[in-house]
Amino acid sequence: MNKEICPLAKKCGGCDYQGMSYEQQLKEKEQSVRKLMKGFGEVLPIIGAQNPYHYRNKVHAVFARQKNGEIVSGVYQEGSHRVVPVNACQIENEKADEIIVSVRKLLKSFKIKVYDEDTDYGLLRHVMVRTGYVSGQIMVVLVVRSPIFPSKNNFVKALLKLHPEITTVVLNVNERRTSMVLGDRNITIYGKGYIEDTLCGCIFRISPTSFYQINPVQTERLYKTAMMLARLNKRNVVIDAYCGIGTIGMVAAKTVKEVIGIELNAEAVRDAIANAKRNQMDNIRFVQGDAGMFMEGMADREENVDVVFMDPPRSGSDEAFLRSLLILAPQKIVYISCNPETQARDLKVLCKKDYQVEAIQPVDMFPFTKHCENIVLLSRKIKNF
Ligand code: SAH
Repeated sequence: MNKEICPLAKKCGGCDYQGMSYEQQLKEKEQSVRKLMKGFGEVLPIIGAQNPYHYRNKVHAVFARQKNGEIVSGVYQEGSHRVVPVNACQIENEKADEIIVSVRKLLKSFKIKVYDEDTDYGLLRHVMVRTGYVSGQIMVVLVVRSPIFPSKNNFVKALLKLHPEITTVVLNVNERRTSMVLGDRNITIYGKGYIEDTLCGCIFRISPTSFYQINPVQTERLYKTAMMLARLNKRNVVIDAYCGIGTIGMVAAKTVKEVIGIELNAEAVRDAIANAKRNQMDNIRFVQGDAGMFMEGMADREENVDVVFMDPPRSGSDEAFLRSLLILAPQKIVYISCNPETQARDLKVLCKKDYQVEAIQPVDMFPFTKHCENIVLLSRKIKNF
Protein backbone atom coordinates (compact mmCIF):
# COMPACT_ATOMS: atom_id res chain seq x y z
CA MET A 1 0.00 0.00 0.00
CA ASN A 2 3.06 2.21 0.06
CA LYS A 3 2.51 4.56 -2.84
CA GLU A 4 5.04 7.03 -4.04
CA ILE A 5 5.23 10.51 -2.61
CA CYS A 6 2.97 12.85 -4.57
CA PRO A 7 5.07 15.00 -6.92
CA LEU A 8 2.89 18.02 -6.12
CA ALA A 9 3.13 17.65 -2.34
CA LYS A 10 5.26 20.71 -1.68
CA LYS A 11 3.41 23.10 -3.96
CA CYS A 12 -0.12 21.97 -3.20
CA GLY A 13 0.13 21.87 0.58
CA GLY A 14 -3.09 19.87 0.89
CA CYS A 15 -1.40 16.86 2.49
CA ASP A 16 0.58 17.54 5.64
CA TYR A 17 1.75 13.95 6.01
CA GLN A 18 3.13 13.15 2.56
CA GLY A 19 6.00 10.70 2.82
CA MET A 20 4.91 9.44 6.22
CA SER A 21 3.66 5.86 6.63
CA TYR A 22 -0.04 5.60 7.41
CA GLU A 23 0.75 3.91 10.72
CA GLN A 24 2.89 6.84 11.73
CA GLN A 25 0.19 9.29 10.65
CA LEU A 26 -2.26 7.56 12.98
CA LYS A 27 0.21 7.70 15.84
CA GLU A 28 0.73 11.43 15.33
CA LYS A 29 -2.99 12.10 15.33
CA GLU A 30 -3.66 9.99 18.37
CA GLN A 31 -0.92 11.80 20.21
CA SER A 32 -2.20 15.23 19.29
CA VAL A 33 -5.72 14.31 20.46
CA ARG A 34 -4.27 12.89 23.68
CA LYS A 35 -2.45 16.16 24.29
CA LEU A 36 -5.56 18.26 23.72
CA MET A 37 -7.75 15.97 25.82
CA LYS A 38 -5.35 15.90 28.74
CA GLY A 39 -7.25 16.23 31.97
CA PHE A 40 -10.55 15.12 30.40
CA GLY A 41 -9.90 11.39 30.30
CA GLU A 42 -8.29 8.43 28.56
CA VAL A 43 -8.20 8.46 24.77
CA LEU A 44 -9.22 5.22 23.02
CA PRO A 45 -7.03 3.95 20.16
CA ILE A 46 -7.74 5.88 16.96
CA ILE A 47 -9.96 4.20 14.35
CA GLY A 48 -7.85 4.29 11.19
CA ALA A 49 -8.93 3.80 7.59
CA GLN A 50 -8.45 0.48 5.84
CA ASN A 51 -7.60 2.30 2.65
CA PRO A 52 -6.18 5.80 3.15
CA TYR A 53 -6.15 6.64 -0.57
CA HIS A 54 -8.71 8.28 -2.88
CA TYR A 55 -11.28 8.71 -0.13
CA ARG A 56 -12.47 12.23 -0.98
CA ASN A 57 -15.95 11.99 -2.51
CA LYS A 58 -15.97 15.73 -3.21
CA VAL A 59 -13.30 17.27 -5.38
CA HIS A 60 -12.93 20.81 -6.57
CA ALA A 61 -10.58 22.41 -8.96
CA VAL A 62 -9.97 26.05 -9.69
CA PHE A 63 -9.47 26.99 -13.33
CA ALA A 64 -6.97 29.56 -14.55
CA ARG A 65 -5.22 30.71 -17.70
CA GLN A 66 -1.47 30.76 -17.48
CA LYS A 67 0.71 33.48 -19.01
CA ASN A 68 1.45 31.29 -22.04
CA GLY A 69 -2.28 30.92 -22.68
CA GLU A 70 -2.52 27.37 -21.42
CA ILE A 71 -5.53 26.57 -19.29
CA VAL A 72 -4.83 24.73 -16.07
CA SER A 73 -7.00 23.27 -13.33
CA GLY A 74 -5.94 22.45 -9.82
CA VAL A 75 -5.64 24.01 -6.40
CA TYR A 76 -4.45 27.34 -5.10
CA GLN A 77 -0.90 27.16 -3.84
CA GLU A 78 -1.13 27.45 -0.06
CA GLY A 79 -1.43 31.05 1.03
CA SER A 80 -1.50 32.40 -2.52
CA HIS A 81 -3.72 32.79 -5.55
CA ARG A 82 -1.36 30.92 -7.86
CA VAL A 83 -2.89 27.77 -9.27
CA VAL A 84 -0.95 24.53 -8.97
CA PRO A 85 -2.03 22.28 -11.86
CA VAL A 86 -3.41 18.94 -10.63
CA ASN A 87 -4.50 16.07 -12.86
CA ALA A 88 -4.51 13.32 -10.27
CA CYS A 89 -4.40 13.23 -6.49
CA GLN A 90 -3.79 10.44 -3.99
CA ILE A 91 -6.70 11.33 -1.75
CA GLU A 92 -9.32 12.43 -4.27
CA ASN A 93 -11.83 10.21 -6.01
CA GLU A 94 -10.12 9.11 -9.22
CA LYS A 95 -13.18 9.36 -11.42
CA ALA A 96 -13.79 12.92 -10.25
CA ASP A 97 -10.23 13.86 -11.19
CA GLU A 98 -10.70 12.36 -14.66
CA ILE A 99 -13.91 14.33 -15.16
CA ILE A 100 -12.19 17.59 -14.22
CA VAL A 101 -9.47 16.94 -16.79
CA SER A 102 -12.15 16.24 -19.42
CA VAL A 103 -13.95 19.50 -18.65
CA ARG A 104 -10.68 21.33 -19.08
CA LYS A 105 -10.07 19.71 -22.45
CA LEU A 106 -13.57 20.58 -23.68
CA LEU A 107 -13.19 24.27 -22.87
CA LYS A 108 -11.08 24.98 -25.92
CA SER A 109 -13.45 23.51 -28.50
CA PHE A 110 -16.39 25.28 -26.87
CA LYS A 111 -14.44 28.54 -26.65
CA ILE A 112 -15.24 28.93 -23.00
CA LYS A 113 -13.03 31.41 -21.20
CA VAL A 114 -11.84 30.75 -17.71
CA TYR A 115 -12.46 33.39 -15.11
CA ASP A 116 -9.71 35.83 -14.21
CA GLU A 117 -9.98 37.23 -10.68
CA ASP A 118 -7.92 40.33 -11.39
CA THR A 119 -9.93 41.54 -14.35
CA ASP A 120 -13.26 39.96 -13.29
CA TYR A 121 -13.48 38.64 -16.88
CA GLY A 122 -14.27 35.14 -18.15
CA LEU A 123 -16.85 32.50 -17.33
CA LEU A 124 -15.69 29.26 -15.67
CA ARG A 125 -14.30 29.66 -12.16
CA HIS A 126 -14.29 26.22 -10.56
CA VAL A 127 -15.53 22.72 -11.14
CA MET A 128 -16.78 20.62 -8.27
CA VAL A 129 -17.52 16.93 -8.58
CA ARG A 130 -19.45 15.01 -5.91
CA THR A 131 -19.69 11.24 -6.03
CA GLY A 132 -21.98 8.81 -4.25
CA TYR A 133 -19.92 5.99 -2.77
CA VAL A 134 -22.70 3.40 -2.67
CA SER A 135 -24.97 4.78 -5.41
CA GLY A 136 -22.19 5.53 -7.90
CA GLN A 137 -24.07 8.72 -8.85
CA ILE A 138 -21.94 11.67 -9.93
CA MET A 139 -22.74 15.39 -9.85
CA VAL A 140 -20.70 17.91 -11.80
CA VAL A 141 -21.05 21.52 -10.66
CA LEU A 142 -19.72 24.15 -13.04
CA VAL A 143 -19.14 27.31 -11.03
CA VAL A 144 -19.60 30.23 -13.38
CA ARG A 145 -19.36 34.02 -13.28
CA SER A 146 -22.63 34.44 -15.18
CA PRO A 147 -25.65 32.18 -15.78
CA ILE A 148 -25.21 32.48 -19.54
CA PHE A 149 -23.22 29.44 -20.62
CA PRO A 150 -22.96 29.32 -24.43
CA SER A 151 -24.14 26.06 -26.05
CA LYS A 152 -24.53 24.47 -22.66
CA ASN A 153 -26.60 21.56 -23.98
CA ASN A 154 -23.89 20.56 -26.42
CA PHE A 155 -21.28 20.97 -23.73
CA VAL A 156 -23.20 18.60 -21.46
CA LYS A 157 -23.66 16.16 -24.35
CA ALA A 158 -19.93 16.15 -25.08
CA LEU A 159 -19.09 15.67 -21.40
CA LEU A 160 -21.59 12.81 -21.05
CA LYS A 161 -20.15 11.14 -24.11
CA LEU A 162 -16.79 11.02 -22.34
CA HIS A 163 -18.32 10.13 -18.96
CA PRO A 164 -21.73 8.48 -19.25
CA GLU A 165 -21.59 7.77 -15.51
CA ILE A 166 -22.34 11.45 -14.72
CA THR A 167 -25.92 11.63 -13.42
CA THR A 168 -26.42 15.37 -13.03
CA VAL A 169 -24.82 18.65 -14.10
CA VAL A 170 -25.47 21.94 -12.30
CA LEU A 171 -24.44 25.52 -13.04
CA ASN A 172 -23.61 27.34 -9.84
CA VAL A 173 -23.59 31.09 -10.35
CA ASN A 174 -20.96 32.95 -8.37
CA GLU A 175 -20.93 36.60 -9.42
CA ARG A 176 -18.91 37.86 -6.47
CA ARG A 177 -15.23 38.75 -6.51
CA THR A 178 -14.41 36.33 -3.76
CA SER A 179 -12.31 33.28 -3.09
CA MET A 180 -15.44 31.45 -1.85
CA VAL A 181 -15.97 28.60 -4.28
CA LEU A 182 -19.75 28.43 -4.51
CA GLY A 183 -22.34 31.12 -5.13
CA ASP A 184 -25.96 30.94 -3.96
CA ARG A 185 -27.77 30.15 -7.22
CA ASN A 186 -27.92 26.66 -8.74
CA ILE A 187 -29.32 25.96 -12.20
CA THR A 188 -29.72 22.29 -13.07
CA ILE A 189 -28.82 21.69 -16.71
CA TYR A 190 -28.89 17.90 -16.68
CA GLY A 191 -30.46 15.32 -14.35
CA LYS A 192 -31.98 15.90 -10.92
CA GLY A 193 -29.66 18.59 -9.54
CA TYR A 194 -28.52 16.41 -6.64
CA ILE A 195 -27.05 12.97 -5.99
CA GLU A 196 -28.05 10.35 -3.48
CA ASP A 197 -25.94 8.09 -1.35
CA THR A 198 -26.45 5.51 1.39
CA LEU A 199 -24.99 5.72 4.90
CA CYS A 200 -25.82 3.28 7.70
CA GLY A 201 -28.79 1.96 5.72
CA CYS A 202 -30.39 5.39 5.10
CA ILE A 203 -30.54 7.07 1.71
CA PHE A 204 -29.42 10.71 1.63
CA ARG A 205 -29.94 13.36 -0.97
CA ILE A 206 -26.98 15.71 -1.39
CA SER A 207 -27.35 19.10 -3.09
CA PRO A 208 -24.45 21.16 -4.48
CA THR A 209 -24.02 23.39 -1.42
CA SER A 210 -25.10 21.03 1.37
CA PHE A 211 -22.47 19.76 3.76
CA TYR A 212 -21.78 16.05 3.47
CA GLN A 213 -18.86 14.22 5.07
CA ILE A 214 -16.10 13.71 2.51
CA ASN A 215 -14.91 10.23 3.54
CA PRO A 216 -17.93 7.93 3.24
CA VAL A 217 -16.33 4.73 4.56
CA GLN A 218 -14.99 6.36 7.72
CA THR A 219 -18.20 8.37 8.19
CA GLU A 220 -20.14 5.16 8.58
CA ARG A 221 -17.70 4.00 11.23
CA LEU A 222 -17.87 7.41 12.91
CA TYR A 223 -21.66 7.34 13.13
CA LYS A 224 -21.81 3.70 14.25
CA THR A 225 -19.30 4.44 17.01
CA ALA A 226 -21.21 7.57 18.08
CA MET A 227 -24.48 5.56 18.27
CA MET A 228 -22.84 2.77 20.21
CA LEU A 229 -21.43 5.23 22.73
CA ALA A 230 -24.79 7.02 23.12
CA ARG A 231 -26.67 3.78 24.01
CA LEU A 232 -29.99 5.15 22.80
CA ASN A 233 -33.41 3.72 23.64
CA LYS A 234 -37.02 4.02 22.48
CA ARG A 235 -37.92 6.59 25.14
CA ASN A 236 -35.19 9.07 24.18
CA VAL A 237 -35.79 12.57 22.84
CA VAL A 238 -32.70 13.49 20.84
CA ILE A 239 -31.26 16.67 19.33
CA ASP A 240 -28.99 16.61 16.30
CA ALA A 241 -27.38 20.06 16.41
CA TYR A 242 -25.49 21.31 13.34
CA CYS A 243 -27.21 18.46 11.49
CA GLY A 244 -26.34 19.21 7.85
CA ILE A 245 -28.58 17.02 5.67
CA GLY A 246 -29.74 15.13 8.76
CA THR A 247 -27.40 12.14 8.66
CA ILE A 248 -26.67 11.64 12.37
CA GLY A 249 -30.26 12.37 13.41
CA MET A 250 -31.71 9.94 10.91
CA VAL A 251 -29.41 7.13 11.95
CA ALA A 252 -30.40 7.84 15.58
CA ALA A 253 -34.12 8.08 14.72
CA LYS A 254 -34.27 4.34 14.09
CA THR A 255 -33.80 3.63 17.78
CA VAL A 256 -35.32 6.59 19.62
CA LYS A 257 -38.73 8.22 20.19
CA GLU A 258 -38.08 11.60 18.59
CA VAL A 259 -35.30 13.62 16.94
CA ILE A 260 -35.02 17.35 16.24
CA GLY A 261 -32.32 18.47 13.80
CA ILE A 262 -31.05 22.06 13.67
CA GLU A 263 -29.08 23.48 10.76
CA LEU A 264 -28.25 26.95 9.44
CA ASN A 265 -27.92 26.21 5.71
CA ALA A 266 -31.38 26.33 4.09
CA GLU A 267 -30.47 24.00 1.23
CA ALA A 268 -29.16 21.39 3.68
CA VAL A 269 -32.44 21.64 5.66
CA ARG A 270 -34.44 21.09 2.46
CA ASP A 271 -32.32 18.01 1.80
CA ALA A 272 -32.82 16.84 5.38
CA ILE A 273 -36.63 17.11 5.13
CA ALA A 274 -36.61 15.26 1.79
CA ASN A 275 -34.34 12.62 3.31
CA ALA A 276 -36.69 11.95 6.20
CA LYS A 277 -39.57 11.48 3.76
CA ARG A 278 -37.51 9.33 1.41
CA ASN A 279 -36.66 6.99 4.29
CA GLN A 280 -40.24 7.06 5.64
CA MET A 281 -39.25 8.42 9.02
CA ASP A 282 -41.94 10.30 10.87
CA ASN A 283 -40.23 10.78 14.23
CA ILE A 284 -37.70 13.37 13.04
CA ARG A 285 -38.17 17.05 12.21
CA PHE A 286 -35.77 19.76 11.14
CA VAL A 287 -35.46 23.42 12.03
CA GLN A 288 -33.55 25.96 10.01
CA GLY A 289 -31.63 28.40 12.14
CA ASP A 290 -28.73 29.06 14.46
CA ALA A 291 -28.20 26.11 16.79
CA GLY A 292 -27.33 28.38 19.74
CA MET A 293 -30.51 30.44 19.37
CA PHE A 294 -32.69 27.37 18.94
CA MET A 295 -31.25 25.78 22.07
CA GLU A 296 -31.85 28.99 24.02
CA GLY A 297 -35.51 28.83 23.00
CA MET A 298 -35.76 25.21 24.10
CA ALA A 299 -34.17 26.01 27.44
CA ASP A 300 -36.62 28.91 27.95
CA ARG A 301 -39.56 26.59 27.26
CA GLU A 302 -38.05 24.07 29.71
CA GLU A 303 -38.31 21.27 27.16
CA ASN A 304 -37.02 17.82 27.96
CA VAL A 305 -34.10 16.40 26.00
CA ASP A 306 -32.27 13.15 26.79
CA VAL A 307 -29.37 13.12 24.34
CA VAL A 308 -27.74 15.91 22.33
CA PHE A 309 -25.52 15.08 19.38
CA MET A 310 -23.48 18.10 18.38
CA ASP A 311 -21.25 18.26 15.32
CA PRO A 312 -20.26 21.92 14.84
CA PRO A 313 -17.95 23.34 12.15
CA ARG A 314 -14.21 23.77 12.79
CA SER A 315 -14.79 26.92 14.84
CA GLY A 316 -16.64 24.85 17.45
CA SER A 317 -19.79 25.78 19.31
CA ASP A 318 -20.70 29.14 20.83
CA GLU A 319 -21.47 30.51 24.25
CA ALA A 320 -25.24 30.67 23.74
CA PHE A 321 -25.31 27.03 22.69
CA LEU A 322 -23.19 25.79 25.58
CA ARG A 323 -25.10 27.90 28.12
CA SER A 324 -28.45 26.53 26.94
CA LEU A 325 -27.04 23.02 26.88
CA LEU A 326 -26.25 23.34 30.59
CA ILE A 327 -29.81 24.57 31.24
CA LEU A 328 -31.45 21.87 29.10
CA ALA A 329 -29.34 19.34 31.00
CA PRO A 330 -29.55 16.25 28.77
CA GLN A 331 -28.28 13.04 30.40
CA LYS A 332 -25.80 12.57 27.57
CA ILE A 333 -23.96 14.74 25.09
CA VAL A 334 -22.16 13.22 22.13
CA TYR A 335 -19.78 15.86 20.84
CA ILE A 336 -18.40 15.02 17.40
CA SER A 337 -15.75 17.42 16.19
CA CYS A 338 -13.48 17.89 13.20
CA ASN A 339 -11.30 20.19 15.29
CA PRO A 340 -10.32 18.78 18.69
CA GLU A 341 -8.78 22.15 19.61
CA THR A 342 -12.09 24.01 19.72
CA GLN A 343 -13.69 20.86 21.11
CA ALA A 344 -11.31 20.97 24.09
CA ARG A 345 -12.20 24.65 24.62
CA ASP A 346 -15.93 23.80 24.66
CA LEU A 347 -15.42 20.76 26.90
CA LYS A 348 -13.89 23.02 29.53
CA VAL A 349 -17.20 24.89 29.77
CA LEU A 350 -19.29 21.72 29.93
CA CYS A 351 -17.04 19.92 32.42
CA LYS A 352 -16.74 22.81 34.85
CA LYS A 353 -19.55 21.51 36.99
CA ASP A 354 -22.28 19.48 35.41
CA TYR A 355 -20.72 16.99 32.98
CA GLN A 356 -18.02 14.36 32.99
CA VAL A 357 -16.25 12.76 30.06
CA GLU A 358 -17.07 9.06 29.63
CA ALA A 359 -15.21 8.26 26.42
CA ILE A 360 -12.90 9.88 23.88
CA GLN A 361 -12.67 8.21 20.49
CA PRO A 362 -10.62 9.70 17.63
CA VAL A 363 -11.50 8.59 14.09
CA ASP A 364 -9.29 9.26 11.09
CA MET A 365 -11.50 10.75 8.41
CA PHE A 366 -8.75 12.62 6.58
CA PRO A 367 -5.65 10.46 5.89
CA PHE A 368 -2.53 12.33 4.76
CA THR A 369 -3.75 15.55 6.37
CA LYS A 370 -3.18 16.55 9.97
CA HIS A 371 -6.90 16.83 10.63
CA CYS A 372 -8.59 14.41 12.98
CA GLU A 373 -12.21 13.76 13.90
CA ASN A 374 -12.94 13.14 17.56
CA ILE A 375 -16.00 11.85 19.43
CA VAL A 376 -16.44 12.72 23.09
CA LEU A 377 -19.22 11.18 25.16
CA LEU A 378 -20.27 13.24 28.18
CA SER A 379 -22.69 12.28 30.90
CA ARG A 380 -24.44 14.48 33.43
CA LYS A 381 -23.10 14.09 36.93
CA ILE A 382 -26.44 14.81 38.61
CA LYS A 383 -29.08 12.45 37.29
CA ASN A 384 -32.57 13.73 36.50
CA PHE A 385 -35.52 11.74 37.81
N1 SAH B 1 -23.73 16.59 11.25
C1 SAH B 1 -23.57 16.79 9.85
C2 SAH B 1 -22.95 18.13 9.46
C3 SAH B 1 -21.74 18.57 10.23
S1 SAH B 1 -20.86 19.96 9.55
C4 SAH B 1 -22.83 15.64 9.20
O1 SAH B 1 -22.21 14.83 9.90
O2 SAH B 1 -22.88 15.52 7.99
C5 SAH B 1 -21.45 21.31 10.43
C6 SAH B 1 -22.78 21.85 9.95
O3 SAH B 1 -23.10 22.94 10.82
C7 SAH B 1 -22.82 22.41 8.54
O4 SAH B 1 -23.86 21.80 7.82
C8 SAH B 1 -23.09 23.91 8.73
O5 SAH B 1 -23.92 24.46 7.72
C9 SAH B 1 -23.80 23.93 10.08
N2 SAH B 1 -23.72 25.17 10.87
C10 SAH B 1 -22.69 26.05 10.94
N3 SAH B 1 -22.96 27.00 11.85
C11 SAH B 1 -24.17 26.72 12.38
C12 SAH B 1 -24.99 27.34 13.38
N4 SAH B 1 -24.60 28.45 14.00
N5 SAH B 1 -26.17 26.77 13.68
C13 SAH B 1 -26.58 25.64 13.05
N6 SAH B 1 -25.85 25.01 12.10
C14 SAH B 1 -24.67 25.53 11.77
